[in-house]
Amino acid sequence: MSELLKDFKDLYDVMKLCYQCGACAGKCPIFRRYSNFNPRRIMKKLLLGEFNKETLEEQQIWFCRMCSACSTRCPQGIDVGHVIQQLKHLSIRLSNASAERIKSQKVVIH
Ligand code: SF4
Ligand code: SF4
Repeated sequence: MSELLKDFKDLYDVMKLCYQCGACAGKCPIFRRYSNFNPRRIMKKLLLGEFNKETLEEQQIWFCRMCSACSTRCPQGIDVGHVIQQLKHLSIRLSNASAERIKSQKVVIH
């Protein structure tokens, strides 16, 4: 895990249980519409430490609408939506996220 993501250490014990089954993606309504957004892939990148300050904003995390559908399907009990939410918070803290991007998070797709 990268230095940047040290704030995730509390979540890491849970995240490392991910075995990339893809059940979260299968339940995700956004993935069904935009195959570029894939919560399984986000988990993989996170575990491999592939997020960094420069790429955090470019990542697909902003497509997530925090509906928690994925979390109900994960066989390992991982709250994937919460993990992605933490990535958004990290991006905002690093000032990578534009004001427009942050404002867009108020819109929730049901
Ligand atoms: S459903 Fe859970 S274990 Fe499967 S890929 Fe998603 S986060 Fe990992
Ligand atoms: S919380 Fe995000 S990743 Fe999970 S199902 Fe909803 S939109 Fe997809």
